[in-house]
Amino acid sequence: MSSLSIHRNDTVKVLTGADRGKTGRVLRAFPDKGTVLVEHVRVVKKTVSSKSGQRTKGGIAEQESPINVSNVALVCPTCGVARVGFKTEGTTRQRVCKKCGTELPTKK
Ligand SMILES: [Zn+2]
Repeated sequence: MSSLSIHRNDTVKVLTGADRGKTGRVLRAFPDKGTVLVEHVRVVKKTVSSKSGQRTKGGIAEQESPINVSNVALVCPTCGVARVGFKTEGTTRQRVCKKCGTELPTKK
């Protein structure tokens, strides 16, 4: 079970670094590392060499790098940038926006 308060498919806002202020969708979460991969955030350019016999061209490919979850904030669909709280109902731990109380569903 994920120990992160930010999950895949969440929309987050970047708080620090070169991509500060950007919002993006979480592509992957790495709970053991405490990092997330956010769409269009911390994009690194990688040089791709062309392979003989293939149609793929050599050149520059862009790929996201994981960033620490402490550097992003979850965007609440109701009120914007939010802090995540938890509400325990029975055996399930529901994520809620601390600001407005909106329940933040965990998409699968
Ligand atoms: Zn909210």
